[in-house]
Amino acid sequence: MNAIVSACLLGINCRYDGSNSRNQKVFDFIEEKGINPIPVCPEQLAGLPTPRVECETYGDGFEVLEGHSHVYSREGEVMTDFFIKGAEEVLKIAKITNAGIALMKSKSPSCGAGTIYDGTFCGRTREGFGVTAALLRKNGIDVIEFD
Ligand code: SF4
Repeated sequence: MNAIVSACLLGINCRYDGSNSRNQKVFDFIEEKGINPIPVCPEQLAGLPTPRVECETYGDGFEVLEGHSHVYSREGEVMTDFFIKGAEEVLKIAKITNAGIALMKSKSPSCGAGTIYDGTFCGRTREGFGVTAALLRKNGIDVIEFD
């Protein structure tokens, strides 16, 4: 089975600060389930640089996709279009590769799938989906988050 995987979880240095979020539990899950991982970083696929400005949303990914909320940079710039573009590119990859599942990084405004930062840049989290995770879920792809 092919699976979309947040690239940072696999040790790729694609985080906003140029680091990664390598998670052994993801490697164990991949091996246990016989998964073929397809690493993606929606924010890089959107054309954002690495390192890049930190972003959060007050709403969640579903609300952003419906035009009811926005993604903001720490400086207050509206970044919504980048996050939607990144989500759409990941969805294209998921369809091309027939990925039935996505393993995504918790808390990210792109990849969070159950937990995201709350938009205040204070390190607080709340329930919610990132924009990419929401678009994948809307298109019938199971999304599991790893922290
Ligand atoms: S959480 Fe998602 S958007 Fe953020 S660095 Fe990882 S793969 Fe890229």
